[in-house]
Amino acid sequence: MTTTNTDAVPSLLPCPFCGGHAEIETIEKDCFGVGCPNCDFQLMNGPWAIGWHRSKLSAATEWNCRPAAGVQAEAVTAWQPIETAPKIGRTLLLGYPNSAGKWRTVRGQWMSEAYIEQNWEEPDDVEPGWFETSVEAEDVPNCWPISPTHWMPLPAAPASSAGDQEVGS
Ligand SMILES: [Zn+2]
Repeated sequence: MTTTNTDAVPSLLPCPFCGGHAEIETIEKDCFGVGCPNCDFQLMNGPWAIGWHRSKLSAATEWNCRPAAGVQAEAVTAWQPIETAPKIGRTLLLGYPNSAGKWRTVRGQWMSEAYIEQNWEEPDDVEPGWFETSVEAEDVPNCWPISPTHWMPLPAAPASSAGDQEVGS
């Protein structure tokens, strides 16, 4: 059961990985965590059990002070080791040194066994892993397996495309 009672609990900063709306998760009585439903990230550094907190306030405080380690929200624009990438099928920037030793940046995603089974015509031939994804002519999606060493969230769309704010003259 989850509740969203936020009495005396500071509002949560956005998810550092995707900018998503973080939520306090009530695991059970007196057992709380904070996570991002958007990219499935959970902060597991609490003192209780495998990393939970005993109060919502403690969980929220811990989540909000994590950027104090020097990582402000915009710092996620730096490359992160691929081991920390969210393997949830979200489109990310992926990068690796190519065979000529030059840095190559692509967009792609993790494809799990379940994802491949649902989306591939011949899933038996496909191993789960990272894939470069692209849209070819006629909007036909295509992808290729790659071995990225780093990842970054996709940059946000241009502010003017948000639509709810009129651009000044
Ligand atoms: Zn997130």
